[in-house]
Amino acid sequence: MGKSSKDKRDVYYRLAKEEGWRARSAFKLLQLDEEFNFLQGVQRAVDLCAAPGSWSQVLSKRLSENHKQTPQEPEPKIVAVDLQAMAPLDGVIQLQGDITKKSTAEKIISYFDGGMADIVICDGAPDVTGLHDMDEYIQAQLLLAALNITTHVLRPGGTFVAKIFRGKDITLLYSQLKIFFPTVTCSKPRSSRNSSIEAFIVCQNYQPPADYTPTMANPLLDLQYDGMNELTGPNRTIVPFIACGDLNGYDADRTYPLTSSYKALDPLQPPITAPYKTAMELKRNNFYNK
Ligand code: SAM
Repeated sequence: MGKSSKDKRDVYYRLAKEEGWRARSAFKLLQLDEEFNFLQGVQRAVDLCAAPGSWSQVLSKRLSENHKQTPQEPEPKIVAVDLQAMAPLDGVIQLQGDITKKSTAEKIISYFDGGMADIVICDGAPDVTGLHDMDEYIQAQLLLAALNITTHVLRPGGTFVAKIFRGKDITLLYSQLKIFFPTVTCSKPRSSRNSSIEAFIVCQNYQPPADYTPTMANPLLDLQYDGMNELTGPNRTIVPFIACGDLNGYDADRTYPLTSSYKALDPLQPPITAPYKTAMELKRNNFYNK
């Protein structure tokens, strides 16, 4: 697909380059924040699954604006983590690692030096296989890993925002989140395609149960899972669903014409180690035909 045909097909992809965001995902965080205002006053943040870094760019911009309003407070702190390397960003501490690994979680916690984050955001997505059950399961694992890290670094009252796939097991995830956050909302920004089952949970006012001690246990793999899907009665949580982003704004699924003055732009930050390069290398070496 040519550069300008993607520009034409995807208005948010085009706008991201025009406005200097590394990925169109920036608009999802901006639209969520427009709705929930969760970045107001934030000084310390964790961005999980951050590459190529557009959410970190949003954090960096908003946290430095916040700091200008309260210059007496310490400098903002942003820790960004991803499996893939990410080009440097001003004011962002970067860590390359797998968020489902204990060692990565421990490194993130150590950056906060006993202090706490005001917000943890996670836009994690596995490489989609097309097998829906498998994709949803891996996505849920990422979310639980993110929640686990969150319980170690988030201050009481803080916010957790994460991508979810709204599959059939979503009620189980909602119930687990409600244990830690009294307010859990599921939201779909205007810039997220209607055709995608992706949505975002916005979990506010972190309040772990009184006797809760954060551990490094993986909640799904380390506990008895049998029967937990059969949630009924009060255990079945109803989470409100909110569409966000200006409803008169661009529709992520529509094609908008290019104006005559429009010039195709290069991506702002090409991937440093794009996964397709390994696949092409293997193909070139006849790996798939062996
Ligand atoms: N929020 C990012 C931005 O605005 O630029 C985009 C994130 S992208 C949709 C999803 C990211 O999740 C990918 O960069 C991928 O490497 C990362 N990811 C997937 N599984 C991960 C894992 N187990 N640990 C860390 N990162 C992971």
